[in-house]
Amino acid sequence: MYGAGDVRMETVPDARIIEPTDALVAVTRACICGSDLWPYKTMEHSETGRLMGHEFVGVVEAVGADVRSIKPGDLVVAPFAFSDGTCVFCLEGLHTSCIHGGFFGSDEVGGAQAEAVRVPLADGTLVVLPVGKDDALMPSLLTLSDVMGTGHHAAVDAKVGPGKSVAVVGDGAVGLCGVIAARRLGAGQIILLGRHPDRIALARSFGATDIVTERGDEAVERVRELTHGFGAHSVLECVGLKQSTLTALSIARPGGAVGRVGVPQDDSIPASQPTFYDNITIAGGPAPVRAYVGELLPDVLEGKIEPGRVFDRVTNLDGVPDGYRAMNERKSIKVVIKL
Ligand SMILES: [Zn+2]
Repeated sequence: MYGAGDVRMETVPDARIIEPTDALVAVTRACICGSDLWPYKTMEHSETGRLMGHEFVGVVEAVGADVRSIKPGDLVVAPFAFSDGTCVFCLEGLHTSCIHGGFFGSDEVGGAQAEAVRVPLADGTLVVLPVGKDDALMPSLLTLSDVMGTGHHAAVDAKVGPGKSVAVVGDGAVGLCGVIAARRLGAGQIILLGRHPDRIALARSFGATDIVTERGDEAVERVRELTHGFGAHSVLECVGLKQSTLTALSIARPGGAVGRVGVPQDDSIPASQPTFYDNITIAGGPAPVRAYVGELLPDVLEGKIEPGRVFDRVTNLDGVPDGYRAMNERKSIKVVIKL
């Protein structure tokens, strides 16, 4: 990405093993993330550009001398952050704070919207998938690298549990996966705040019980009507804008919790006083999706959840710039890149 609206597919130096703990992975599926749209909207022009992509499934081509659990030929899914799996934070399940970790889609590590990626800390980072590389479950397996794990994280941080009322702010891929996660965790009522008919239909099939198409104060009012006047026990903020965050905080009931997974586009959190007086928990952050694979993978393999349905467009590497355009114009929910 060279700047806002300027994505190009170019030949770059081949990814290769640098550290003995690295693996080299040939990408078979990658995707474009809602979070890639923030720089797509705002990035200042750069002469050198920035390598993009942090969600992928691929086949291991080679491993460094110290890699033990991953071998060439393995089909693997990678979380959007790499991690050693052994440090104090990884052991606590917070792999995104790994003291040796970092994120894909940087100049240091490279991006996944590419033919191949160097994966640092391969033993800790990669998860071997027990299927073939063109398995029908591939779209859903790919969501374990980010959106399904992120929707689940929002639900966990919002303390979703059996019988609780849940509101999901945002009808993008993460919000839709948040609906799946809320249902999976036993929510009684799932209210989706969104306004695109195709996304609403998908949300309903994932388990949303109510849809709120209003915005701002009207949306707050409508959620209150749907929740006996109190607001929702659990709110998943899956956008990251000031307005969506304010809405999320305003529809949590006293004692409720808000799980924020939309990358914040603002320095401060709104509604400081009302959320204080209502004892509302404000939690969230980048999802430690590596920690959740063990829990979510069996459900995907058994077909209990189908998060891969959020993909509504397939492209190849050359089609990536168009894919960004389609997602930015909301003509596509999420684009899968098939290599
Ligand atoms: Zn770690």
